[in-house]
Amino acid sequence: MKIAIDPGHGGSDPGTSGNGIKEKDWALEFAARLGHHLRALGAETVMTRIIDERPSLSKRARIAVAAHADLFVSIHTNGVLDRTANGAEAFYAPTGNHQGNSKGICEQLLTVLATAGMRNRGVKPDNKSNHKSLTVLRNTCKVMPAVLVEFGFITNTHDSKLMSDKYWREALAEKMAKVIVE
Ligand SMILES: [Zn+2]
Repeated sequence: MKIAIDPGHGGSDPGTSGNGIKEKDWALEFAARLGHHLRALGAETVMTRIIDERPSLSKRARIAVAAHADLFVSIHTNGVLDRTANGAEAFYAPTGNHQGNSKGICEQLLTVLATAGMRNRGVKPDNKSNHKSLTVLRNTCKVMPAVLVEFGFITNTHDSKLMSDKYWREALAEKMAKVIVE
């Protein structure tokens, strides 16, 4: 089993920021933890980036496809002006042979997050109704299940407190790795 892990943003693209968290850094750090636990459970991993750089979205997808990964997981955090917005959400591409599987994996990962205290905003198809068109999902979903997880709102006090806690991140990465391998 091979899992492609995609830490969102990077380099000149910091993503969102708030409460001392920068999305690109959070994603990279969490990706490393998740990768560690996946490998400990016997899975192979391939990362779309391991340093603070910005591969294009199509390059990220190409890396996963070229590696013949069995699953693509993109790691992001939300951030908005409205500081009351909170919770985690997950997206999947609503096309292709793997959409059912992708949706199921989204649901399971959000359940793990909910157990860790992060409100579940739900699983959403990557389409116009959600104002999304996510290249990394579109370019991978034909050949593997592909999900993009927004782990929480770093602009929200409750969410950012959890996400700043390295013990929380470590426990979450371990549980997510188990769910993915199962
Ligand atoms: Zn992002």
